[in-house]
Amino acid sequence: MKIVLCSSEVVPFAKTGGLADVCGALPPALEKLGHEVVVITPRYKTSNIQVPAPIVRIGENIRVCFIEHHNYFGREGLYGDPGGEYQDNLERFTHFCHKSFEVLKEIKFSPDIIHCHDWHTALIPVLLKTNYQHDPFFRGSRSVLTIHNMAYQGIFPKFKYERLGVHGRLFHPQALEFYDQVNVLKGGIIFAHALTTVSPQYAKEIQTREFGCTLDGVLRNRAQDISGILNGLDYETWNPKDDPFLNFPYDAAGAHELKINNKLVLQVTLGLPSREDVPLFGFVGRLCAQKGLDLIRDVVDAIAAKGGQVIFTGVGDRKYHRMIEEAAGRHPHHVGKILKFDEGIAHKIYAASDFFLMPSTYEPCGLGQMIALRYGSIPVVYKTGGLADTIHLYDPIHKTGNGFIFTEYTKASFIKAVDEALKVYHQKDQMKDLLDAAMRYRFSWEKSAREYVKVFEKCLS
Ligand code: ADP
Repeated sequence: MKIVLCSSEVVPFAKTGGLADVCGALPPALEKLGHEVVVITPRYKTSNIQVPAPIVRIGENIRVCFIEHHNYFGREGLYGDPGGEYQDNLERFTHFCHKSFEVLKEIKFSPDIIHCHDWHTALIPVLLKTNYQHDPFFRGSRSVLTIHNMAYQGIFPKFKYERLGVHGRLFHPQALEFYDQVNVLKGGIIFAHALTTVSPQYAKEIQTREFGCTLDGVLRNRAQDISGILNGLDYETWNPKDDPFLNFPYDAAGAHELKINNKLVLQVTLGLPSREDVPLFGFVGRLCAQKGLDLIRDVVDAIAAKGGQVIFTGVGDRKYHRMIEEAAGRHPHHVGKILKFDEGIAHKIYAASDFFLMPSTYEPCGLGQMIALRYGSIPVVYKTGGLADTIHLYDPIHKTGNGFIFTEYTKASFIKAVDEALKVYHQKDQMKDLLDAAMRYRFSWEKSAREYVKVFEKCLS
């Protein structure tokens, strides 16, 4: 099968979150199954490309084509700057979508499947069924749209509609209009041949009012065409045994001792008392309401009072930057922080921490908890979306499970899960067993890639 993956972020070139990890790991997994894959992505100012050529290769032989546009992509941020979202995001990603078709012709790659991701590329399914409907080059092509987060839909004022470069009649509730505004994701949901999202649980949730972010009705209309495919983890990139960012690399066998060394170093880096007998909770993620920071604010004092330490890394909403800074001010011996996007610090936190806090209000899949398991940091999570699909309550008697879960979104319930975690922490044998089980857990990309192939085959049949 000939597959092109179009995405606004792809590891190792640009990343703000899990979308980039997925779009960097899925193409090689599909290639390993014998498919021919091409990737198209913007070339940002920050894209980490050494060669001047607009095509580089990943995996065995996957071409990555970069769409260059100095005005649109030659900026510091991917979607915005500290002042907010860029005002011309519709124009930027509309350009990207149109250009993707041209690039495919230039490289003579007539795809069976055009695999799009999130609103930035959701115009592509619309273009395929309208502007390119009669183009012989794309006659056999089918589009699949993967939704990584329903909260980001690409909503713009009506006057921008004409800049999409599609027919006027598509400004319609059955296409790109939503309450007199442009909604790009909605267009993709209606026009794509198939839809996927990144966990089975989230696939069900987005069809409900609570999680559908106002498009639940549109999604229910396509219920037959929606699949939930859990993300995998790239176990080569995320490998504590061979991680250039770690002072003390380790594997499952040596984790119990070596994680402590990583912890002592990180405590020093962050100005915290360097003590191996203190339970350390890590947080790595975008600083936004979705990631449960309002609940963390209420719980961080309780963790400090119980003698634990919490380390944060992240960037995002100003109010959460302030909240974390205030917590660090209140608890200088218990709360550490590095508030920026820093790959190295993220790896160090996964490695140093005993537990990983992920009380997301909703979570399409979540990679943080998967990475944490791989590094032997035991997740403490709210039971939602992909967290519900990947984290199972640890049972010390039967020695099953891989983390701690709370099911009511309240401070009391979260603290109870933290207390359970601390109880196990103080039972050295149990903690060792749990650490061992967590690190051996696998979320395989091969399995996920096979599921994507099934969806692709169904579109083509
Ligand atoms: P989301 O896609 O919603 O942001 P995920 O848990 O799926 O959340 O993926 C987050 C990814 O981004 C992980 O690879 C995580 O390590 C990384 N990440 C998030 N914030 C930072 C940061 N401040 N520095 C480095 N990496 C980060």
